[in-house]
Amino acid sequence: MNNLQTNSAIDPQAARQALAELFGFRSFRPHQEEIVSAVLSGRDVFAVMPTGGGKSLCYQLPAYLLDGVCVVVSPLISLMKDQVDAACANGLRAATLNSVTSPEERSAIAAALRQGELNLLYVSPERFNTPGFGDWLKRLQVSFFAIDEAHCISEWGHDFRPDYLALSRIATEFPGVPLAAFTATATPRVAEDISARLKLRSPHLTRASFNRPNLFYQVTPKDDLDGQLREFLRDHQGESGIIYRTTRKNVEATAAMLRSHGIPARAYHAGLPDGERAENQDSFRRDECQVIVATIAFGMGIDKSNVRYVVHADLPKNIEGYYQETGRAGRDGEAARCVLFHGRQDVAQLTRFAADIEDEEARETALSQLGQMLNFARTDNCRRVALLGYFGEKFPEKNCGACDVCLGEVEREDATVSAQKALSAVARTDGRFGAGHIADILTAANTKRIREQGHDRLPTYGVGKDRDKSYWRAVMDALLGQGLTRVDDPRYPTPTITDDGWKVLRGQRTFQLIKQAASSRKSRKSRGTIDGDEPYSLGLFASLREARTRRARADNVPPYVVFSDRTLHEMARVFPDTREKLLAINGVGKRKLEAYGKEFLAVINAYRQANPGEVAIPTAPRKPVPCFIPPNPGGGRTGTVLETMRLLEEGKSLPEIAKARSLKADTIVTHLEALAATGYELHQDQFFTPRRLEEIFALYRQTQTWQLKPVVEESKGTLDYSEARLARIFLQQREDFGENALTED
Ligand code: ADP
Ligand code: MG
Repeated sequence: MNNLQTNSAIDPQAARQALAELFGFRSFRPHQEEIVSAVLSGRDVFAVMPTGGGKSLCYQLPAYLLDGVCVVVSPLISLMKDQVDAACANGLRAATLNSVTSPEERSAIAAALRQGELNLLYVSPERFNTPGFGDWLKRLQVSFFAIDEAHCISEWGHDFRPDYLALSRIATEFPGVPLAAFTATATPRVAEDISARLKLRSPHLTRASFNRPNLFYQVTPKDDLDGQLREFLRDHQGESGIIYRTTRKNVEATAAMLRSHGIPARAYHAGLPDGERAENQDSFRRDECQVIVATIAFGMGIDKSNVRYVVHADLPKNIEGYYQETGRAGRDGEAARCVLFHGRQDVAQLTRFAADIEDEEARETALSQLGQMLNFARTDNCRRVALLGYFGEKFPEKNCGACDVCLGEVEREDATVSAQKALSAVARTDGRFGAGHIADILTAANTKRIREQGHDRLPTYGVGKDRDKSYWRAVMDALLGQGLTRVDDPRYPTPTITDDGWKVLRGQRTFQLIKQAASSRKSRKSRGTIDGDEPYSLGLFASLREARTRRARADNVPPYVVFSDRTLHEMARVFPDTREKLLAINGVGKRKLEAYGKEFLAVINAYRQANPGEVAIPTAPRKPVPCFIPPNPGGGRTGTVLETMRLLEEGKSLPEIAKARSLKADTIVTHLEALAATGYELHQDQFFTPRRLEEIFALYRQTQTWQLKPVVEESKGTLDYSEARLARIFLQQREDFGENALTED
């Protein structure tokens, strides 16, 4: 049966080797290695890791190294098929048994299993639950069980699947076989439930951080949603993304609106005929349609790794859902964007919806979750801090660098006086009225309610006439979001003043209003932090993407099974021209090299010949070059830099280039720095005699720094800034230079 004996002999080095050879990855993601080694040592495992954390590898890799077959239980047939395709593309031997497996396929799989030829067998919970299946499994050598999406076993989770309950038999029926459970669901209640139901035996526990560093979070008030969506999509042409809407009707309306503007979006919701729904999902998976507009029914069934944005066009019901849905972006680790549009109507609608829930406990939960969601949308602090805080996680940095607040995309203005006016209206009406009525008082509206309540006689009546009602609603929202007022029950949104609010009223603290200028023009530049800002050739990426689509079609798999976006980005950065260099790219293992290497090398070669001006961009310069790398991804070079490069290639000297371009020599030197930083080889003899370079080198050495000023001063007038800067490019490339010989500026 199970073979702990042989398995415990596996050397940890073997796991690293398999990581490189099989998956083509340079390093493990956080926690992967510890989980792999726990599985290899025969322990039960319970791993909670976010979407995109790389859970599949945690069982696929041991499945490859261990004798016998790893049985993977996975909830959805479409997911299983993609997983099997992806595993096979990496050279693993995998198959799936589910309700659509034909009898012929079944017997072929059974034969392969008897021969011990499969590493992985994916089964649906229904299949697992069929009578006799367990006995059949017992006759095989099962290395371990992997339960993917393990939260499906919990009734507290959002994807409860009754058939998962049968999995609690594994521990008793296969006492010697380890069990590894994986989920991205973060709530402690669900986690406990999973562990208990699966009867895990002192499992190795992993709870990864829920931070998704490559996701950029943005929250924007909804004013003209259709226009806002179109503008956003204009900036994200050619990228795959999901737009979530709350209702089926809105899904249809938005998809139709986009199509009428020439954006071929498809719809997805539970009300569509099965065929159409599957077809739409499939065309999205295959990169044939870029934009899918969907209800939250969409997402769990796909592992598509290159979703570059997730837009919530309506306020989600709770943070948990929001996190899961945004989590579908950027699984490949590349930068992706999450935008939430929210408007007042959403709040009213969701509140009504929650308030109508009959069961009291469920109603209270829904309302309080909605309250948390609203706080998230209204906060003026880092979105990442707020999101992780919800899961009890503290984000350590001051500035996350990847949300609209931290990047300063939201503009703030001091609005203490406005806050005082609004709060005073709240105080004078005893916190018994909603934001709309307060705004009416401030703008001197002549409504029935105002007259009835005698509010036109309040001293605050009309004190905010200089601004319109929507401004005052925004102030009221911000007061609530910043905790200066509070609403205890969203069904009765009549804010009252908090202690902090009284401080503002008494002039003891200030209040800032977010103006939220966040235009999506700006948004295009801001990308996530992880590897997201390394430049690559857009042109080559486009060609590689085409090749990927062709290959995927021919093999009948989704494109991301061939190579991830991330892998193609890296190719478009380093322009590999040999099999060895291709193999060194993250995500290219031996099997993929054999299967696709020739084809992709040919694409790179052809591109190189057609674009001789573009050259490889090294990931990290050998020595840190203290100069800017232009942020545009077009090969990392702007037009003006390319113009300098052209003149350089004509053999012109520095003064000649400066003259030809009517630019300062110093500016040209910054171009040269940019070229060097993006891997362009400059020749020092085009600028210096060896002797002159040595003289300058001596000055740098004397001052022990790469900073220009001390060196220029040290030279006593014999060296100017441009020359010092130019020389630095070559000096920093010297092999004989001790890593820490000089300090950086
Ligand atoms: P999860 O199931 O946790 O959501 P997946 O297993 O689908 O995540 O992995 C997400 C993506 O990350 C996949 O494209 C996968 O190939 C990639 N990936 C996994 N592990 C690594 C690694 N060590 N290095 C680079 N990419 C990885
Ligand atoms: Mg997964």
